[in-house]
Amino acid sequence: TIGMIVINQAGQVAAGTSTNGARHKVPGRVGDSPIAGAGAYADSTVGGAAATGDGDIMMRFLPSYLAVEQMRAGIDPSTACRTAITRIKKYFPGFFGAIVCANTTGSYGAACNKLPEFSKFPFMVFNKNSNGPIKETVDCI
Ligand code: ASP
Repeated sequence: TIGMIVINQAGQVAAGTSTNGARHKVPGRVGDSPIAGAGAYADSTVGGAAATGDGDIMMRFLPSYLAVEQMRAGIDPSTACRTAITRIKKYFPGFFGAIVCANTTGSYGAACNKLPEFSKFPFMVFNKNSNGPIKETVDCI
């Protein structure tokens, strides 16, 4: 999945995902990516979030919606992302997934569920302080 959160100069927020879906998916599978609140969610008064990973598990928890609601309550994006991952982890400790979060002030963060084969999650940031896209990495929890 490619997940993206965009905030324009007027402060409007958009988020979306583009995916090839899961491996060996059954014909007709929709997955999490196009489902608002699961694959991505945005609210111009708050911020946005976009998720990747095992969509069949993750979509049951609307992680992008949860993260945006956390930010609406004043939680910083990194913590909001971690809360969304922790919620899923509680029921599916071995799930594969990550989420990126950004708020309208320009703060951002990401989180991922730590697995033996997945301990860091790279993501790209492009803002007025960066001279082009910058790669950042978060340690999975
Ligand atoms: N979330 C996507 C899906 O389950 C897969 C991905 O993130 O790459 O369809």
